[in-house]
Amino acid sequence: MQKDGVIFDLIGKELQRQRNGIELIASENFTSQQVMEAMGTCPTNKYAEGYPGKRYYGGCEVVDEIETIAIDRLKKIFRAQWANVQPHSGAQANMAVFIACLKPGDKILGLDLSMGGHLTHGSPANFSGKNYHALFYGVKKETGLVDYEQLETVARTEKPKIIICGASAYSRDWDYARIRAVADEIGALVMADIAHPAGLIAKGLLNDPFDHCHIVTSTTHKTLRGPRGGVIMLRHDFDNPWGLKDPKGNIRSMSALLDLAVFPGMQGGPLMHVIAAKAVSFEEILSEEFTVYQKQVQQNAQAMAAEFVKRGYNLISNGTDNHLMLIDLRNKNISCKKAQETLDKAHITLNKNAVPFDDKSPFVTSGIRVGVPAITTRGMQTGDMETVVGFVDRVLSATDNENEIAAVKAEVGSFMQSFPLYPGL
Ligand SMILES: *Cc1c(COP(=O)(O)O)cnc(C)c1O
Repeated sequence: MQKDGVIFDLIGKELQRQRNGIELIASENFTSQQVMEAMGTCPTNKYAEGYPGKRYYGGCEVVDEIETIAIDRLKKIFRAQWANVQPHSGAQANMAVFIACLKPGDKILGLDLSMGGHLTHGSPANFSGKNYHALFYGVKKETGLVDYEQLETVARTEKPKIIICGASAYSRDWDYARIRAVADEIGALVMADIAHPAGLIAKGLLNDPFDHCHIVTSTTHKTLRGPRGGVIMLRHDFDNPWGLKDPKGNIRSMSALLDLAVFPGMQGGPLMHVIAAKAVSFEEILSEEFTVYQKQVQQNAQAMAAEFVKRGYNLISNGTDNHLMLIDLRNKNISCKKAQETLDKAHITLNKNAVPFDDKSPFVTSGIRVGVPAITTRGMQTGDMETVVGFVDRVLSATDNENEIAAVKAEVGSFMQSFPLYPGL
């Protein structure tokens, strides 16, 4: 068969786009070349429904080894007793937890989407809000920090079965111990969704959710810098608190219920090529090099936040503990939709984002979200943050000036030549 010129040409164009631009989308990163290589391999052909040693198809002896290594490496990274590496994405990981622990209509409590939470934490547009009775906590208007008093009040009055912590647009660390304390009072489970800061947590640069949360989910492609995917982990397995039964009517441990929820509960065959790539990325995460990377991510985020503040930008919570920041652009009098679109023209990619207590629609929004994992992978150091913020500021200060936008785009292009991406491709 002839090679598909159309699609491979477009993939080539996408590579050029990634090479030429400044990538500030907080949820994106660049995997290593060997992670991408592993993804483009023959395990994609293999059906392996089930788990290592307990498959529904023959010929699984090799993929069994791949998945077992992936699980063992992930457990080592987070000192977890149990892990499932099959969820196709972070959303699937969360869905599996709800399937394992809840019945339709049960109450869940999560951070409101408009305050930095994720769709899968109970949004009415998502399965989590349609199938379950979703309750929310927010952040405090004055500080931008999670409103733990509100969380506790809602928890005590409504008694949700699961309290979800973790977010997509929150730049501060979490008080997991405090959430666990109120959960214990009401007999709820705590689920930490560390999709965003997992890499920093892996290296001990943020509070450890495993010390206090029953169940931890994550994506593998954000700060963890692996292939697109999800995982579920337990530091300690435990008996499920509500006597939940498997389809055969047996009361099972939480790990068994979670395995059953992923398959056959929610997914069919696992993506074995992606699990192979997850295993490769997990080995990279265990390295000293990755520790250096995560420390640089945190330092770059802090340097970038300071630079934005210096230029009069209004940061929610005034700064960051992790890899991202949320900027309220209302004092700059720019529509955030326009900000995103204009920066795109200058090859600077980020996303508009609602800020807490936003008065604009989710399509317009009052803020932008900025993250440094991808540019840190490109090799940027704290000193480069001034340059990057300078480019952003120039574009945002001249959104109708096509000459200035073109000038920044040219400068961005030559600046990024100093940070080669996939030189071997
Ligand atoms: C990104 C994210 C997810 C979902 O990840 P997908 O892989 O896009 O499904 C879940 N939870 C949080 C908090 C996230 O930020």
